[in-house]
Amino acid sequence: MNKTLVIIVAAALLLGAASLYALQTQAASKPPAQAPVPLTVEKISGNLYWLKGGVMANSGFFVGEKSVTVIDVKMTPDGAKAMIAAIARVTPKPIGTIILTHSDADHVNGLTAFPTGLRIISSENTKKEMEEAFKDDKLAAYRAYLPTVTFKAGVEYAPEGLPAYLINVGPAHTSGDTIVYFPKEAAAFVGDLVFLGRDPLVHRQKGGTSFGLVRNLEAILKLSAEVFISGHNDPLTKHDIRGELKMIQEKQAKVKEMIAAGKTLAEIQKTLGVEEPPAGGRRWPSLVEVIYLDITEKRF
Ligand SMILES: [Zn+2]
Repeated sequence: MNKTLVIIVAAALLLGAASLYALQTQAASKPPAQAPVPLTVEKISGNLYWLKGGVMANSGFFVGEKSVTVIDVKMTPDGAKAMIAAIARVTPKPIGTIILTHSDADHVNGLTAFPTGLRIISSENTKKEMEEAFKDDKLAAYRAYLPTVTFKAGVEYAPEGLPAYLINVGPAHTSGDTIVYFPKEAAAFVGDLVFLGRDPLVHRQKGGTSFGLVRNLEAILKLSAEVFISGHNDPLTKHDIRGELKMIQEKQAKVKEMIAAGKTLAEIQKTLGVEEPPAGGRRWPSLVEVIYLDITEKRF
């Protein structure tokens, strides 16, 4: 390319960028209802990566000797396709294994973007929750994507060919959350066991409990890891998780005390400063309500 041509091309690119910028600023005055968050690949260490943004929950992948292992698969097939394309930009190796941290749609519903026949690993209870959800005929296509390998609660499971441990400490956010721990990379994927900046979400209808959440956070803190990838935050540290654990335990102690003193849920929520739900209801029950129900229904 000669010098003049380079200048012309550069000028054209600049003009293009300027008009694109104008379009974007115009669009900004009328934002779309749901602006898509761009999907980005971030390296954790060695061959381990996490996928930030895209369609809902964070996910991750590990490039193994022969194939790639994916951890959680976004909320929609299109979201998962974007994820598969992003992985292909890092490695030409095929995806061979999918690990699901739990059964929530924003971690699982991208499954149909993958070929069938892959190894899919989850805890036994996550598989049960998925079987239950996929009884819905609208989700019939997902029945071909049920986990093919499961492991029991309380077992540290090391999948063949993957330098990771899968740990399920029992019910917490759901009835069967899995911690995916990579010792060499000093990192762990913790699904939705940690939510920072808002009340943790406990699906009591799936068998989750706040006391189980405490046990899971304690187990996470025992790992020799420095980086923790959760579904909806940027990478976390042990300091973050310790703070979250302390906050939950303090609330549990206060609610327990007030129940013993004969207080009602409404009185306890008021004393602990739980705000009234906005019009249309709260997105999910307050942690105080979850703890109150766990204690009164003896779900420890
Ligand atoms: Zn979840």
